[in-house]
Amino acid sequence: MLAPGFTTRFAPAPTGHLHLGHAVNAVWVWGIARAYGGRVLLRLEDHDRGRCRPAYEASILDDLDWLGLVPDGASTAVLRRGPHAQRQSDDLARYDDRLIALEADGLAYPCRCSRADVERAQPVADGAEPRYPGTCRTAGVAPDETPARRVTITDGVETFDDLRLGPQTQRPATDVGDVLVRDRLGQFTYQFAVTVDDFEQRIDLLIRGEDLLASTGRQFRIARMLGRIEMPRVLHHPLVRHPDGRKLSKSAQDTGLRELRASGRTGAEVLGIAAHASGLLAAPRPLEARSLADLFGPDGWGEIPAG
Ligand code: GLU
Repeated sequence: MLAPGFTTRFAPAPTGHLHLGHAVNAVWVWGIARAYGGRVLLRLEDHDRGRCRPAYEASILDDLDWLGLVPDGASTAVLRRGPHAQRQSDDLARYDDRLIALEADGLAYPCRCSRADVERAQPVADGAEPRYPGTCRTAGVAPDETPARRVTITDGVETFDDLRLGPQTQRPATDVGDVLVRDRLGQFTYQFAVTVDDFEQRIDLLIRGEDLLASTGRQFRIARMLGRIEMPRVLHHPLVRHPDGRKLSKSAQDTGLRELRASGRTGAEVLGIAAHASGLLAAPRPLEARSLADLFGPDGWGEIPAG
């Protein structure tokens, strides 16, 4: 299914401490990479300068060491030591360069709409994603009026075969419209930074939670605009939820890795809890990082019998 030699990534944002949802992602990322002969890059997604903190980054690197998860390429020690291309804020020029090229091709434009403007223009149900109606596409906003930029998303479908969920069809122009790539504070957005990095760092397998499924089509579209020819393969894994159905957040005290660690759990126990929480183990049991590959055997994934 997966030929050896691929590169995937673990890409946390240092806007908080790691929680069980990150441990789930790590189980799938490292498990699949080690089972099928792939590499794992660790990328620190600190594009949101207002929300990222050095202390969160330090805590993420420390938790990965504690879990026994060793990245290929730049190690946690290398990232701790100083600037590196796998920390987004250390090389913001790469996003500038890509955006300048898109603007030169007429594929990006200045946008003065706030989030509230977009929501007002096309009200959507609670929790649903507003679609940008294209207000500034032809408004001729002067480039120095705002640092905010959107890329033009034209009609058409993006299709991909998710390794777990099967064939997917998305319509970015209908779902989201023109995507914000740099905001009004001059910060590059997640959608843009992740797409540039996945392209430039030659990531050819994305393994991430189902909450990001809707982002994949638009990221593929932006990647094509940047000149990427081959799209990465993708796998979206199940999310861990609170018993009441809420998505886990970084503020969730009960599932933070620091809290689990402080309560006396070992790294192997936490990996086992994460494997269980995402349907890979019938019951939690300690799992060393080096044995995560055993969960992704050629005859099926996880230890839960089908049916
Ligand atoms: N940085 C993103 C997050 O922490 C994940 C990026 C991705 O997997 O595309 O949610």
